[in-house]
Amino acid sequence: MKSPASADRAALHEFVAKHQRFLLTTHVNPDGDAIGSEVAFAAWLLGKGKSVRILNDSPTPPAFRYLTDGYPAEVYDEALCDQRFSEADALIVLDTSNKQRIGRLAKHLDQHVIAVAIVDHHATHEGFGRINVIESEMAATASLVYEIMRESEHKIDARTAEAIYVGLSTDTGNFRYSNTDAKAHLLAAELVALGVQPQVTYERVHATAPPGRLRFFGEALAGLTMLEDGRVAVLDVSPEQFARHGLIGADTEGLVDMPRVIRGVEVVALFSEVDPGKVKVSLRSTGRVSIDQVCVRLGGGGHEHAAGVQLRGSREDAKTRILPEIAKLLAALNAAPAGGGKA
Ligand code: AMP
Ligand code: MN
Ligand code: MN
Repeated sequence: MKSPASADRAALHEFVAKHQRFLLTTHVNPDGDAIGSEVAFAAWLLGKGKSVRILNDSPTPPAFRYLTDGYPAEVYDEALCDQRFSEADALIVLDTSNKQRIGRLAKHLDQHVIAVAIVDHHATHEGFGRINVIESEMAATASLVYEIMRESEHKIDARTAEAIYVGLSTDTGNFRYSNTDAKAHLLAAELVALGVQPQVTYERVHATAPPGRLRFFGEALAGLTMLEDGRVAVLDVSPEQFARHGLIGADTEGLVDMPRVIRGVEVVALFSEVDPGKVKVSLRSTGRVSIDQVCVRLGGGGHEHAAGVQLRGSREDAKTRILPEIAKLLAALNAAPAGGGKA
């Protein structure tokens, strides 16, 4: 019997066969999985002789720009977006199934008749496409894109393998998070066999920081606060710190992972304010508590052990809304019978 997932994948293959001019997009503030998935999907479509454009609400972070070299990747502009929507007959949304997360492209969706397909691994939303391939057991959207490409017997070259590897390695925190399963490692092995050089890729993506970024990390880490008997680690970065070090929001990449090394820590919360009054909250669980619903209830989303939300107001306001919710989750953990926690 066909599983619903494979039925959705079959529908996606039909969708791709039926359309010719594709527009690809992803979530605001794209990460390695967002960009890697777009590039791999674009390579697949181009290999099929389709016309492809990538248009995102936000610019590609510098660390991932090399992946889009040679691809028609553009950043949102109202007139350009109208033009791209008029030219395309299908939109593929990667690495999000939440319409609000595609940013300013969302309003154009309501104004143009265009068929939409979603390819994602977030469980927090239903998907707003005609076709919704949403598989939350996939470590990365890029893993899903790889399987889809394989199903159509597409030959994957080393460059495309690298784009997929960037998605997989960044979304698993370099194979450290709880979504790192046998499948993730098997895929990594296949990608290496296709020509990916893990050390080279790691350096391209992660060894590109300006010195100010480390000083900024140092300041943020010096301000680390521990709550709930050392089970919650809180980090906080201000607009003044971003400005003084000449950094942007994407420069916090990796910061939230650092306190995970503290013995006994269950949850890490980062409150990052680039523009005054807009606080990006990033939550990480080291595996025993599910933090996604805390973000979903406030309009965000993510995964069980890695989620985020954007809040208006001060960092203190954000903490007042988030930290008691985390304390409740930890209290429930205490109340649960031994061995009841999730691995
Ligand atoms: P981050 O903390 O930005 O690395 O994100 C962790 C996870 O939560 C990723 O899967 C994101 O896609 C998701 N996420 C982060 N911010 C938001 C948001 N504002 N709304 C929905 N999902 C989010
Ligand atoms: Mn993502
Ligand atoms: Mn992802």
